[in-house]
Amino acid sequence: MDLGDRLVAERRARLAAERLLELKSRELFAANRKLAEHARALSEEIVIQRRVVEDAHSVADQLRGENARVRSDLDTATEARTVAENRLWLALETIRDGFAIYDPAGRLVVANRAYISVFEGLEEVGPGAFARDILRIGLEEGIFDPGDEPPTAWVEGMIDRWNHDPIEPRVIRLWNGRYIRLVDRRGNDGGVVSLALDITDAVRRERQLRDARSRAEAASRAKSAFLATMSHELRTPMNGVVGMAELLGETQLSEEQRLYVQTIKSSSEALLLIINDVLDYSKLEAEKLTLKPEPFDLERLVHEVATMMAHAAAEKGLTLAVDVDLTLPPVLVGDAGRLRQVLVNLVGNAVKFTETGHVLISVTGSPPGQDGRRAVSLMVDDTGIGISPDMRDHIFGEFNQVEDARNRKYEGTGLGLAISRQLVRLMGGEIRLTSEPGVGSTFGFTIGLGDEPGVPAQEPCPPPGLHRALVIDRDPVTRGLLARQLRQLRLTAIEAATAAEAAALGPLVWAGADGAAAGAIFADEAALAAAEFPPRGWAGCPVVRLAMTSALPGRDCPGALGTLVRPALRGDLFAALDAVGRALAASRPAGAQPASPAGRLRVLAAEDNRTNQLVFSKMLKDLPIDITFAGTGGEAVELHAAMAPDIVFMDISMPEMDGREATRRIRAAEAAAGAPRTPVVALTAHALDGDREDVLAAGVDLYLTKPLKKSAILEAIEACLPGVMENLSGSDMASGAAERAPEATVA
Ligand code: ADP
Repeated sequence: MDLGDRLVAERRARLAAERLLELKSRELFAANRKLAEHARALSEEIVIQRRVVEDAHSVADQLRGENARVRSDLDTATEARTVAENRLWLALETIRDGFAIYDPAGRLVVANRAYISVFEGLEEVGPGAFARDILRIGLEEGIFDPGDEPPTAWVEGMIDRWNHDPIEPRVIRLWNGRYIRLVDRRGNDGGVVSLALDITDAVRRERQLRDARSRAEAASRAKSAFLATMSHELRTPMNGVVGMAELLGETQLSEEQRLYVQTIKSSSEALLLIINDVLDYSKLEAEKLTLKPEPFDLERLVHEVATMMAHAAAEKGLTLAVDVDLTLPPVLVGDAGRLRQVLVNLVGNAVKFTETGHVLISVTGSPPGQDGRRAVSLMVDDTGIGISPDMRDHIFGEFNQVEDARNRKYEGTGLGLAISRQLVRLMGGEIRLTSEPGVGSTFGFTIGLGDEPGVPAQEPCPPPGLHRALVIDRDPVTRGLLARQLRQLRLTAIEAATAAEAAALGPLVWAGADGAAAGAIFADEAALAAAEFPPRGWAGCPVVRLAMTSALPGRDCPGALGTLVRPALRGDLFAALDAVGRALAASRPAGAQPASPAGRLRVLAAEDNRTNQLVFSKMLKDLPIDITFAGTGGEAVELHAAMAPDIVFMDISMPEMDGREATRRIRAAEAAAGAPRTPVVALTAHALDGDREDVLAAGVDLYLTKPLKKSAILEAIEACLPGVMENLSGSDMASGAAERAPEATVA
């Protein structure tokens, strides 16, 4: 091989070696890189692992700390529990009352010393013992004192009590006279916590108090009995003093002597009154006062009281009025003397503590019950100084009065109400009081009074021919009262304060079916003396003069039939009405029969047309019906209020105010007054059709279409007031009222 070839071969070999070298170094580089990557991943892993280990270490540290804390807390809690338990036991051991816990089976779990000490020396009583055994052993050993109860019944009763839930508290007695109150409570698990409270001291105190009270009551009764005897004994010589002073007053005396005697007399009378009060009060307190029921006239009694007080009331310018229910029977059974005493006290106080206005005594009664007794309410109403709410109980106490300057100018012992309250209680009632300072007071009470068998009830009835009364009186209380009584007699009562006011009411005159006057006037002095008297439309009516008891003898009033002195007994009122009836009869044309208002139907007909009015009255002329006509709707409303008719016939089309509006107003007035609904029959000129709803909505009960027919009118009356015509014809038609003058004169 030549050199060239060798050079070429060498170069080739060198090139091959260089290529191999290059390849190897590239492989080495790649391997190096991989190694580096691996190393990096490894070190990252190591970092993570180290962190995990660190975390685990810190959690372990934390847990170790917590564990220590919990352990220390537990130690503290255990310690606290032990302390609390010790304290509790110390407390339970310290208290004098027994404490025990029983398990649901009734076995004693634990008990304090006080509980166990009762069973001192009895081995069987201790934790584990059954409650029933403890009871039985306690009884056998004489620890429990069953009193009058047989021992077995006592144990059974105690066991029975234990089985109830809740367990009722019970007081037991121990052998040593101590009283234990057992209070047991069952827990949710059925176990029982038992408390045994020593209440001996409380029981002793209560017994001492009871003894003391009954001793005090006995002493009080003895004192009252002593007072009663004393006052009784005092009365006899006092009567002597009063009587002698009176006799002395009738002898020849100088002015000065007379004054002395008068003073002795009035002072001893006042003293006698006080002694009587004290006597009554002490009798009531000593329970020595009994009621003496007897038949009596309640109305007369009330009037006697009013008359007794009338002078004092008149001196102060007060109106003293009496309002007695006219339907009360004339005779009732009760202790009249004691009732009078209560009334005198209440009315006396009312007059005493009132400076202006009125004192009104009202008496109302209910129908008798099955036992023949009725509830009668008496009320004394005044417009006096009143009583403040905080004094309302106080004044019923003995010797109690309202202590203020305003009150202290009034004399009195303060015993009156205390006695009255006791007396009313004895009669089965209770005094009620309503009052407003500066406005007035009302004292009232309700008691049961018996009816006297065989005495017919009062049937108040006005005289025949009288339908309407005009009451003219300045005093609204007495005026309203008389008007109400007259209305109770089914009369139409019209009220006015003065003659001028009555005259302004307009011509409301109305004559009865026989054409005679059917009205009467009750007028006070001022009205009688007024220029407007008699008011327009009332000329010719009988007049009754009204006077108060206190009034001076009245001036002669030529027209007056007589005087009704008030407060009037209903007998007086009936006598005055009788006189009115006689006067009306005398003024009646010869042969004419009086119309009996009780036996006649009172019809108000609103009709503006005179011819229709005539037709209407002609149709009804043979019937026991009295018609009053109103010419306008407004007049119909007024007349309805004034006369309270049995039924109204209402023309729908009238001038000014039509029948619809008038009916609406009548209904409103009835509702406002709480009055019963008067049937209203509408009269229309033609079939109503569309208006029908409108008319009925106004408050009409029925409607009739003109022209009117007698049968239709009668049917309407029958529909609204079933049976009424039959009843009326029974009483009046039979009397054969012959030819009657016009039934009605139109206003
Ligand atoms: P007395 O009238 O003798 O003082 P009462 O027992 O009858 O005794 O009355 C007790 C008190 O009640 C009176 O003093 C008065 O203060 C008050 N009182 C009684 N009735 C009335 C009344 N109608 N108006 C105002 N106060 C009254």
